[in-house]
Amino acid sequence: MKRALFFVALFIAAVFAFRAITRTAVIPTAMSMISTTPAVRPYAPHPYYSRTDTSRVVLPDSVWKRVLPEVVYDVARQGNTERQFTGKYWNHDGNGTYFCAACGNALFRSDAKFAASCGWPSFFEPVRRNSVTYHSDFSYGMVRTEVQCGRCGAHLGHLFEDGPQPTGKRYCMNSAVLDFEPDTGQR
Ligand SMILES: [Zn+2]
Repeated sequence: MKRALFFVALFIAAVFAFRAITRTAVIPTAMSMISTTPAVRPYAPHPYYSRTDTSRVVLPDSVWKRVLPEVVYDVARQGNTERQFTGKYWNHDGNGTYFCAACGNALFRSDAKFAASCGWPSFFEPVRRNSVTYHSDFSYGMVRTEVQCGRCGAHLGHLFEDGPQPTGKRYCMNSAVLDFEPDTGQR
C-alpha cells in the first residue's frame, strides 16, 4: 500500500516537473526568436527575403503588406511611383549591386547605372537577363513597358528606349524598391 502511494506521488511530481520544464522552455525560445532574428540575419527582414535563392516568390498581397515597410509596399505591390529627385538612389554613386528591396533578388550592377536627368535611378541593363520581367502597361493613357522583379513580381519602374549605349535602354527605377550593397572594400 505504501509502495503504491509512493508511485502515485512520484507520478504527480513527474507531471508537475514536465509542465514546469515545457513552460519555461517554450516561452523563452519564442521570445528569443523574435528579438534576435534581425541581428543574426541583417539582410533578411522577413522569411521570404534572400540574396542567394533565385526561385520565384509568390505571396498573397496580405502577406506582403505585413512583411514590407509601407514605402516599399506602396511601390512594389501597389505600383506607385516615388516623386522624382526624392529617392535615395537617383544621384547615388559607388560600386556595388542593387537588390530588390522586397525579396533580395540581385537586379542591377552599379556599372550599368548612368547619370540620368529624369530624377530616378536609371540603368542600361539588368544584372542577369531574367533578373527582371517585362509587362505592357496601358495606365494613364500611355503605352509603357513595366519592369517587375523577376523573383517576386514587385513593381520596379518602367523601361524606355532612350538610354545610352551599349543597349540604348533606360531602366527607370524607384529607389524605394532598391537596396544598394557596396562591393567589399568599397564602403
Ligand atoms: Zn523582388
